[in-house]
Order: sequence, then structure tokens, then C-alpha cells
Amino acid sequence: MRTKIIAGNWKMNNDISQTTDLINGIKSAIKPSSSTIAIVCPPYTSLMTAQQLIKGTSIKLGAQDVSLFDSGAYTGEISLPMLKSVGCEYVIVGHSERRQYHAETNEIINQKAKKVLSGGLVPIICVGETLEEREKNITSQILTTQVKGVLAGLSASEVEKSIIAYEPVWAIGTGKTATKEQAEEVHLLIRTLISQLYSSTTAEKVIIQYGGSVKPDNAKELLSQPNIDGALVGGACLKADSFLAIINAA
Ligand code: PEP
Repeated sequence: MRTKIIAGNWKMNNDISQTTDLINGIKSAIKPSSSTIAIVCPPYTSLMTAQQLIKGTSIKLGAQDVSLFDSGAYTGEISLPMLKSVGCEYVIVGHSERRQYHAETNEIINQKAKKVLSGGLVPIICVGETLEEREKNITSQILTTQVKGVLAGLSASEVEKSIIAYEPVWAIGTGKTATKEQAEEVHLLIRTLISQLYSSTTAEKVIIQYGGSVKPDNAKELLSQPNIDGALVGGACLKADSFLAIINAA
């Protein structure tokens, strides 16, 4: 059985005092679980604070992005060694907001995933179609191109260590969630594609999260689908009680 992994993407939210309150709220009520992993992905400025607060708990630390370079003249960028030094174990790569506002392509996301894996961290690699693409009935083509592109050149063992997050762009931050059937259909498509590209063993191992307006009231039905192995949560991870309810639904 695959572990369920719930990751909270805080995006550009929470200063140090809000970070302290949110992490304290999560850790005061999180139940120990051998089948679920909870990850918080605060903004860079809060990573150190979060890392100190989660010490000794089961909560894991993730970052929202990483530079392709290890050091040097890349103003505003944060490198993988820096993320490692602060205790990050996971890094989100290719979030649709990075694709949209920072022109990240499948190729760049693929390079970032390789960079994260080379440092022994786990990439959470995001894919997902836009509303226009869904309405044109090209969701499966788009997902096939994205998955092949972001995984290009990764070995089977690297894919098995990675997390893929299926995030339909039309469901992110909009309150519109994919139905459990819509989400499961795409998750199955991704797993089948990985089975064709690698093997059924690799496909059975890879964690595929769903993301897009996951809330306490829809988490259970989404997370009970056979190919949905967790959630990447935006808005609902900013309150301890709703993030905990999603973790408990897993
Ligand atoms: C996200 O940003 O990855 C996300 C899924 O956001 P939300 O849950 O707010 O839709």
C-alpha cells in the first residue's frame, strides 16, 4: 500500500509570527500515523522558523521552488544546498503559478526535478491542464506531454522516489474541485503512462497527489480513490484545523 502524503503549499503567505502560530496549531493536534506523511511548504523566509518548530514531530519540511544552480550570481534565487541546510526534504517544482508567472516549461521543471533528486530530496512535480484544454477535450494529450516532459531522463528508481501532483489549473484557488471521477480518471492515466514508460512496479510505487481546492469536506472522497495517494493543498493549509482535517481524512 502506498503512503498517503499531504503537503501544504503556503504560497506567499505567513510572516514569522503567523508561521509560528500555524505550525504550533498543527503540531498541537496532529495524530501520529504510520500511513500518512504531512509536509509544510512555507515561503523561504519562514523555512528556518518552521524547521525549528517541527523538530521532534512527524511533520516534514518542503520548499516551493528551487534554483537550477547551486550558487552564484542569480539574484533572488535559492539553491538546493541552501534548502538542504535548512532541513527541507521535499521541493515543489513546476507549480502552475510558476508555469504561468515565471514561464517555467516542462524542460525547466524536468531539470529542477533532476536537481532535487541529485541532492537526495524528493521533488513534488506538478502537472495539470487549463480550463481551455479541458474544454477542448485535450486533457489526456496535455497530461501525456507534460508527464513525458517532466520525467524525461529520470531513472525508474528516481521516478519511484518522486511525487507527481496532478493539479488541474482550473481547480487551483477557484473553489472548483475536480469530481472524484474526473480526478481518478487522470490519476489512472498518469499511472498507466508511467507503467508504459517504466514498468508496472514503478507505476505501483509512485505517489500521485491531487491538488485543486481540496478542503476538509471533499478530502475524504478524493483520497479514497484507488489512484489518489495524497493531496497538495493551497488555501485550506493556511488554517491548522482545516489542514489537520485533510490529514485526518487520509
Ligand atoms: C495549490 O496551490 O497547489 C492548490 C492546490 O491550491 P488550492 O488548494 O487553494 O486550490
